[in-house]
Amino acid sequence: MDYLWEDTIAAIGTPIGKGAIGIVRISGKDSLKILKEIFRTKEGSKKEKFENRKMHYGLVVDRFEEPIDEVLAVYMRAPKTFTGEDIVEIHSHGGIVVVRKILREVLSKGARLAEPGEFSMRAFINGKIDLVQAEAINELINATSEVGAKLALKQLEGALSNKIKELRDKLLEVKAYIEAAVDFPDEEIEIFETGHIREKILEIVEKIEKLVSTYKDGKVLKEGIKVAIVGRPNVGKSSLLNAILKEERAIVTEIPGTTRDIIEETVTLKGIPLRLIDTAGIREAIDKVEQIGIERTMKSLEEADVILFVIDGSIGFTEEDRKISKVLKKKENVILVINKKDLGLKLSCRESIDWKECVELSAKSTEGIDELGEKIVNLVLLEPETILKGEEPLLTNERHRELLESAKKSLLKVIDSLDTGFESPEFISMDIDEALYSLGKIVGQVTTEDMLDIIFSKFCIGK
Ligand code: GDP
Ligand code: ZN
Repeated sequence: MDYLWEDTIAAIGTPIGKGAIGIVRISGKDSLKILKEIFRTKEGSKKEKFENRKMHYGLVVDRFEEPIDEVLAVYMRAPKTFTGEDIVEIHSHGGIVVVRKILREVLSKGARLAEPGEFSMRAFINGKIDLVQAEAINELINATSEVGAKLALKQLEGALSNKIKELRDKLLEVKAYIEAAVDFPDEEIEIFETGHIREKILEIVEKIEKLVSTYKDGKVLKEGIKVAIVGRPNVGKSSLLNAILKEERAIVTEIPGTTRDIIEETVTLKGIPLRLIDTAGIREAIDKVEQIGIERTMKSLEEADVILFVIDGSIGFTEEDRKISKVLKKKENVILVINKKDLGLKLSCRESIDWKECVELSAKSTEGIDELGEKIVNLVLLEPETILKGEEPLLTNERHRELLESAKKSLLKVIDSLDTGFESPEFISMDIDEALYSLGKIVGQVTTEDMLDIIFSKFCIGK
């Protein structure tokens, strides 16, 4: 095994504060040596042999031979490891203080603290994973939802990488064909007449477009759906927010500093994070403090993916409702929520044909809340069916989207050249190379150091 790096790196491998087990991960050529220096058997003696990939039970000691904690240590021999280097993992059940102490011991024996993303970077450079997979690791760690995590995992398994590879292979085929035409101009490879090349390239362009079209949904899954709840006082906005929370249960965030109304809450709906914003809550809180209110409300309406316009159905549409509806009617993403169904409705969805989406419900009895959830998801996602299954790779990364767009641009240039017939095959071949270059950059077949720095610096330390 040749080591590209002289230094051995170490970091805490589990997110701080999460889980009962902390892992110190070491990668590099001195990993095993360091383990031997700090590991003792239960009887307190040094251990000379660590079998590959076997958990060893023992103690980690400090420089005074004082035990820090009981641990399970595993040595994984290069090159069949995540980074492609020797890896040691020390699993401790102690809290973060203990894990930090172990890390300090490891560092005192010659390892260096890993930079953010450095483990993944080594894995990438040692050819263990491609760039898309490296990025997926980061996304998996930062995933805020079930579906988001599922997506990242798919990407890590190579679903997106394979798609990109498929596109490259198809393009290479076309290129070979064109080059044959350049090299043997007398042969009967009449590329410009047959339209064969054009068809092939168009096919690739369509595949790229299809992949790019998943970006919007991918982003929603990653970042969550922003839902603004609006309506005049007492129609039941806060109750609705609470009803959704109760149905979906998983409360994640609460912005502090509010007394009566919750301002923003996150729940997961079918695995997708929903960020619910009670705009009255915003207005009330701000009125008290800063007296600006309305502007904030308008801004949160602008930023919302979905707006829930709540009215009190037991009363019907009032003058004040009408005022609010004037602002909302121009928007595509509004769901009219006719609340207080349990009291009997004076207005039904059937009579509200002005509104594209409408739900009758009761925040009190929670009847109709499920239906509302479905409507929200269907309104925001372009392809809710496929996406909720989480089987197709989706684009979630801006970098990937940009590179796919530029590959498409190059290919459209090729088609243009073929159509006008002015360009020589050499020129066409150059545009195809451009497209190949862009696709290659996605998976990291073509990389620049700057690009790697930017990508890997987004990682958490220890990954
Ligand atoms: P907000 O000012 O729009 O946030 O309205 P609230 O959520 O504070 O609700 C105003 C009043 O309406 C409260 O007394 C709620 O208990 C009541 N309320 C809200 N939703 C319903 C409902 O679906 N049915 C009934 N019967 N009462 C409701
Ligand atoms: Zn309220």
